[in-house]
Amino acid sequence: MTCGRRPINMEKQITLRVRPGETVRFPPQCVACGQPAGERLTLQKRRGQITRRVDVPLCAECARRLARRSGDEERLLRLSLPAAAGVALLLTVLGLVALPFDAWLPRLMMGLVLGVAGGALIRRALVRRAAAAELPERRAVREAVRIVDFTWRDMTLAIADGAMAAHVLTMNPDYLPDEQIEADGSDGAKAPDDKRIL
Ligand SMILES: [Zn+2]
Repeated sequence: MTCGRRPINMEKQITLRVRPGETVRFPPQCVACGQPAGERLTLQKRRGQITRRVDVPLCAECARRLARRSGDEERLLRLSLPAAAGVALLLTVLGLVALPFDAWLPRLMMGLVLGVAGGALIRRALVRRAAAAELPERRAVREAVRIVDFTWRDMTLAIADGAMAAHVLTMNPDYLPDEQIEADGSDGAKAPDDKRIL
């Protein structure tokens, strides 16, 4: 452990050769604050039809932080569904009343399409506003470990705490791609410029 204060901007990305169904091992410490962990957080990233998941350890306190929403966030999320439904209904009715077709069926269909699109836009805008109103301590927990990318045979994780990232690498020796084994080797070579050692 380094001296209490957590360094900022030390996020480290690591790539592991894990395939779907294989488990990444983490030290039994909270990924967000380093305390002994009793809970688990399941991270997931979806691309197309494929979703990859990773379980990371979390302490009870950080699990609580993760569950806590700001008042604004709560309000915007609660508003988003009825607002979207209202806009969808309004646009559908407007389409039915105002579109310049004689037959009512095309008016209704066009109105429905406009309504669904408008409702989805409103909902997305409100959900985005809610995300911006997220409590900073919740965001810090959420961003402690992220799945940045994955393929069928590997996964790249961004870990906010560089020391934790190094620890995870040492705990998963079977999954290290070749280049990271070399970069980690302690053969007395000089560290490259971009590698800061404190
Ligand atoms: Zn914690």
